[in-house]
Amino acid sequence: MALYDKTAHELHELLTTKKISAAELTGEVLARVDEVEDKIGAYLTITRDKATAQAKAVDDKINRGETIAPLEGIPCAIKDNICTKGIKTTCASKILENFVPPYDATAYKKLSDSILIGKTNLDEFAMGSSTENSAFHTTHNPHDLERVAGGSSGGSAAAVAGGEAIFSLGSDTGGSIRQPASFCGVIGFKPTYGRVSRYGLVAFASSLDQIGSFTHDVTDCALVLNAICGHDEMDSTSSAAPVPDFTKALVADVKGLKIGLPKEYFVKGIDPEIESAVRNVAKKYEELGAEIIELSLPHTEYAIATYYLIAPAEAATNLERYDGVSYGARVDGADVVEMMTNTRTEKFGAEVKRRIMIGNYALSAGYYDAYYLKALKVRTLIQKDFTDAFKKVDLILTPTTPNVSFKVGEMISDPLKMYLQDICTVPVNLAGLPGISIPCGFTKDKLPIGFQLIGKALDEATILKASFAYEVSC
Ligand code: GLN
Repeated sequence: MALYDKTAHELHELLTTKKISAAELTGEVLARVDEVEDKIGAYLTITRDKATAQAKAVDDKINRGETIAPLEGIPCAIKDNICTKGIKTTCASKILENFVPPYDATAYKKLSDSILIGKTNLDEFAMGSSTENSAFHTTHNPHDLERVAGGSSGGSAAAVAGGEAIFSLGSDTGGSIRQPASFCGVIGFKPTYGRVSRYGLVAFASSLDQIGSFTHDVTDCALVLNAICGHDEMDSTSSAAPVPDFTKALVADVKGLKIGLPKEYFVKGIDPEIESAVRNVAKKYEELGAEIIELSLPHTEYAIATYYLIAPAEAATNLERYDGVSYGARVDGADVVEMMTNTRTEKFGAEVKRRIMIGNYALSAGYYDAYYLKALKVRTLIQKDFTDAFKKVDLILTPTTPNVSFKVGEMISDPLKMYLQDICTVPVNLAGLPGISIPCGFTKDKLPIGFQLIGKALDEATILKASFAYEVSC
């Protein structure tokens, strides 16, 4: 097996026993990037020189006999809406095309001893499900290059699936980690809202945004969580709860665990091949000793409408700062109003403008009560569905997506159809809960299928335990 297809924990072992060097490993990953990046398009920026210098520093440390951290010297990729000091962070938008942050996002800073291969593609400002809304290019699925890698963190998912990084970070506001993970056949984890600091994550919808990981296996997922979770004084919404050692949860034992199957996630509109794969996962858990309990999350049908009011409302507010003055690009005009209008008209893409308009409409006087306030109330009902369900079960099992990866161009002209992509993932963000997507086989067309496990707030450990048990049993 090539080094670029190995897991971080396998590579750590090879590094510490000096069977390979960090320079060799980084060289192999960069050679893989040279080989496949033309076809996949996972990256917006490749940080080759930084990677090479970092690898040398790690090798020097190993040669001095010093110990290295579990992810030290491991090649990684970071979504291009996570700030990296001195390295362009564009959000795949023309408005930030040349933006170089003066500081690091906390999550990236905590990984600064991993080797940064580059910054990955996304839908502009993380709005989308296919990376087709990137102002620069579309990322293709390594399993079928005619198809999308998913979105918005499609570049981060494809980088890991295509061997262009060992692990990566993405962000998930309505499914942007879990959906591309399921499309690309890798593991994607969105922690509880607040588990990972949002400091330096360019804001899309601040009450929903969360940073998380893409990895080849559950052990790597636990290692990345160990590195990035924790309170941060720079983000007042980050959780003060103690962070356990997530590798301790890697025990393949689900005996007595109660896993709920919500009937609203197994309805018409879900690809039958996905439904049967996820039902097989439930069977597997039963064989392993878990108890499967059918349940109902009755407000699920309102989740998309709720999300597509709350997220655009927050986005419209957050994106006000791109005014041609404080950040990013400026297009001149006769006066300040014309300058701001020209800047925003020329530099934002169509989907971002659509969201700004929906958001401002929902927030405007006269409509606020009917749309935004009502959406907030429904959000509370959706949260309550989960609170009630978690009185009966420890975890909830669902498909990650209603369909597998689609062809590039197939959905881009139908935003509503694209929004329905998020049906299984947005309720989790609305409730602020942790969720993982795990590969569970392929369709007859050889496209990856993923299942989702949703946990109680701050109970990432139980998700990891059940995920590990499934992985070991396969
Ligand atoms: N696809 C969803 C959207 O377009 C989710 C995006 C995300 O999680 N960043 O808003």
